[in-house]
Amino acid sequence: MIKGLSKCGIVVMVGGLLAGAGDAAIAKKAKDAAEAALQTKIDRFVPTEITASLSALPDSEKQALMKTIEAGKLLDPIYRRQVWLGNVELEKKLQADTTPKGKLIYHAFKQNVGPWSRLDEGAAFVDGVPAHKPKGAGFYSEDITKEELEAWIATLSKSDKARATGFFHTIRRGEDKKLVAVPYSKEYAEFLKPAAQALNDAADLTKNDSLKKFLKTRAEAFLNDDYYDSDVAWMELDSPVDVTIGPYETYEDELMGSKAAFEAFITIRNEVETAKLKKFSGELQDIEDHLPMDPKYRIAKIGALAPIRVVDQVFTSGEARRGVTTAAFNLPNDEKVTAEKGSKRVMLRNVQEAKFNKILKRIAEVVIPAKDRELVQFDPFFTHILMHELCHGLGATAPKVNGVETTVRAQLKELNGALEEAKADITGLWALQYLIDKGVLDKSLEKTMYETYLVGTFRSVRFGINEAHGKGMALQFNYLWDLGAYKLEKGRFVVVPGKIKDAVAKLSGEILTIQAEGSYDKAKALLGKYGVVRPPMQKLLDKMKSIPTDLEPYFPIAGETAPVSR
Ligand code: ZN
Repeated sequence: MIKGLSKCGIVVMVGGLLAGAGDAAIAKKAKDAAEAALQTKIDRFVPTEITASLSALPDSEKQALMKTIEAGKLLDPIYRRQVWLGNVELEKKLQADTTPKGKLIYHAFKQNVGPWSRLDEGAAFVDGVPAHKPKGAGFYSEDITKEELEAWIATLSKSDKARATGFFHTIRRGEDKKLVAVPYSKEYAEFLKPAAQALNDAADLTKNDSLKKFLKTRAEAFLNDDYYDSDVAWMELDSPVDVTIGPYETYEDELMGSKAAFEAFITIRNEVETAKLKKFSGELQDIEDHLPMDPKYRIAKIGALAPIRVVDQVFTSGEARRGVTTAAFNLPNDEKVTAEKGSKRVMLRNVQEAKFNKILKRIAEVVIPAKDRELVQFDPFFTHILMHELCHGLGATAPKVNGVETTVRAQLKELNGALEEAKADITGLWALQYLIDKGVLDKSLEKTMYETYLVGTFRSVRFGINEAHGKGMALQFNYLWDLGAYKLEKGRFVVVPGKIKDAVAKLSGEILTIQAEGSYDKAKALLGKYGVVRPPMQKLLDKMKSIPTDLEPYFPIAGETAPVSR
């Protein structure tokens, strides 16, 4: 099935050189170029130590933490199988090839958990594998077509249908050629049984009742595929050791979008940022009452916000550890749980900090003059991210259009994402200034937060403006620039202190008003005019090619050292 891997493993294109190159020198050159090209792809992820201080944890919690890491590690082999059934055999072959080229390919395989490059539209970088990942990943036997699947599902009873289309069953072709839904607990028993044991051991060690309950119920779910109780326990988790472990996201299943991939985020609660968040939450109604728009659009009593946890990551596995590193997530996804219990947002503070240090600081070198770079700091960066999250809950969500109550989402349609992200960004910045002026936050923040925010704009726009965050950021940048809050200085951008405050308030007000009015036309005009990349910005973006795209994390607390392929 997988042929000649150790001999000609790379399918990176190097022009016409590989094809029919009779001359040994040309062939060698092509091989070197192909290896260099693969190395460049690997280097887009910069190896980064991710760790946290455990000194504040009692011994019981430290021991429980280590046990949950043990459970987390068992999800890696499951996830490899979920990405592609061929991964197990392929990995053995790649691992056996200890030539420099072989090591390079194996490194890329581990970064992507599979032979397809996630940053390159899933193109294969290993010879002898399908050009792209099968749509059904490893969740469905590879010869099952969507038509066959749908026809089969139509014949099932209600409960069988729920299993076949649910999160926690793979679909296999049985001996009799008929399709069958196999529960995860059976399909991955080899790994889930010991993982459940490790979770139970951790539950016995911890003295925190909410963690104990989550670990016990999740261990049960690993063995019986019923995740409801443990999802509820996860929503109620309030513990210094904060654990997210199980089958969650369905992105990997491109056939039906229904099968959940296993992953683990083993983290500890960050007490400083948790306290900051609490302080901000207490100010939210007052911020709403002063939003820079017509008072008639302000909400007299804002709704309860989904809970937010700020944590530091000490280990991840499975889907959480492939391609671009997750810095925040919202879970659970099961509608039954979210309908009853809502969802929770978890923010990985030290991951954000690592991205800030390895990427944002390098972007600052390109975007702003040397004299301003010391103003770009992690604290204002993360404080703004926290406020961004809170500001999603401010402003109108239910405008009245022609006397009929509707929602911002329904009114703004495909523009809603970009505008909502821009609202959270710019209103977050406005709110921080409001709290500084009110004396709640230190005045020193004023010096650093605008500069840090300006550089952050480029981080988002760097990957294109087709996606909501990037487009929303381009909108903010150009709007503020046109109001004179930024100016160009020898090709780089500087913040104009006398102008930035008012410009931020004006933009925040404009977006909030568009949402409150539910005006699609105004949203379209605003994004059309400003949600673009103008030449001076593009020039700077072009200079960022050698800056890493993201991190390749490794976790000393889990006994890991820096990844190398050479
Ligand atoms: Zn957001």
